[in-house]
Amino acid sequence: MKNKSSSDLFALAKTLMPGGVSSPVRAIRPYPFYTTRAHGAHLETADGTTLIDCCMAYGPLILGHANPLIRKAIEGQLEKGWLYGTPSPLEPEFAKLLTDDHPGMDMVRFVSSGSEATMAAIRLARGFTGKKDIVKVEGGFHGAHDAVLVRAGSGATTLGVPDSAGVLADLVAHTRQVTYNDPEALESVLSAHDDVAALIIEPVLGNIGPILPQDNYLREIREITKAHDVLLIFDEVITGYRIGIGGAQVKYGVRPDLTTLGKIIGGGLPIGAFGGRREIMEQIAPQGPVYQAGTFSGNPLSLTAGIATLRYLHDHASFYQDLEQKTRGLEESMGGMTGGSFVRLGSMFKYFFRSVPPQNYREVKECDTAAFGAFWKRMLDAGIFLPPSQFETNFLSAAHSDRDLSALAQAYTKCR
Ligand code: PLP
Repeated sequence: MKNKSSSDLFALAKTLMPGGVSSPVRAIRPYPFYTTRAHGAHLETADGTTLIDCCMAYGPLILGHANPLIRKAIEGQLEKGWLYGTPSPLEPEFAKLLTDDHPGMDMVRFVSSGSEATMAAIRLARGFTGKKDIVKVEGGFHGAHDAVLVRAGSGATTLGVPDSAGVLADLVAHTRQVTYNDPEALESVLSAHDDVAALIIEPVLGNIGPILPQDNYLREIREITKAHDVLLIFDEVITGYRIGIGGAQVKYGVRPDLTTLGKIIGGGLPIGAFGGRREIMEQIAPQGPVYQAGTFSGNPLSLTAGIATLRYLHDHASFYQDLEQKTRGLEESMGGMTGGSFVRLGSMFKYFFRSVPPQNYREVKECDTAAFGAFWKRMLDAGIFLPPSQFETNFLSAAHSDRDLSALAQAYTKCR
């Protein structure tokens, strides 16, 4: 049988773990391939296949899998221990890097995941403003916690509907939604409701995208939130260090009140961070009354891997240009578009099965997901692993070689 090892592993896992997986998107049907080793831009499966990876663990691995520099940094830290339960010198060092790079961050707190970062940022926004509601963007994803797990697609002023059993409707009633790329929608929600603490937004929609901000959208929502005394939280868990140093706030010249980070800043190890204006961050315990804590927060291994990654990005002046050039090359090699549209920003990209690039959640849902499913399978058979959803962003890394890129281009041309 083809891929017997993966199939057997999944059969066992399903008896022990819900859906057989540790995170739902990994439950590829009829069974996911199991990875036993990863190097550079490649995954090796339990079935003996080598795949070119365009998922890169959903974004963190901008330098590729098992990058030797990062490995060396982690090994160096292993010698010194990997969890202290006390402050370590790595924390102020890393905090300095992050606050220097992000105009919207005067202070920062480390946590262990992007979800934790957005959860804490929302609590902080409520604690600071004394207001109850938050606004998010339809199709925006900020982790799997209650306040943001709200079905996208409802009208802008409709109350939220829980996206998961177990999430209290009462709670998500405090989460309102607006359409991306539509500043008027935000203006009308904020005009109608005066109890909004914050707008949380992925400045570039990464979890149904990339969907890019049009015209002056980000500047306009900055003005609108300011006028209504509502905090602006940029969730840069994907865009942070992906679209450049300083993420979207530097690229688009918009300073949020709070910023959440994750993925790349851990160099492939678990991490999250949130930061913002000093007067807001000073509300966090023990300095202020908004409680937040974690056993693994600021753990030395993740900070070491993160610092090594960020230093590498800083030290290589043409890093982002080179990466963008690879993605542009991929687009150009595909020639004219028939039926679909290719969207890219830096090293984020996606081939949408929709003739015109979508601008929001409603439009992205018009994509031909059946066509995507068939294409995805053909790509896998051709040795390419794309994130298994039309709605997930694809990523390139510094480790994708010219050879990988020409194999990718050929596969795209053949399979789409
Ligand atoms: N925010 C955004 C924009 C994300 O893409 C994600 C995860 O994909 C999260 C938050 C949650 O991060 P984590 O999976 O590290 O909890």
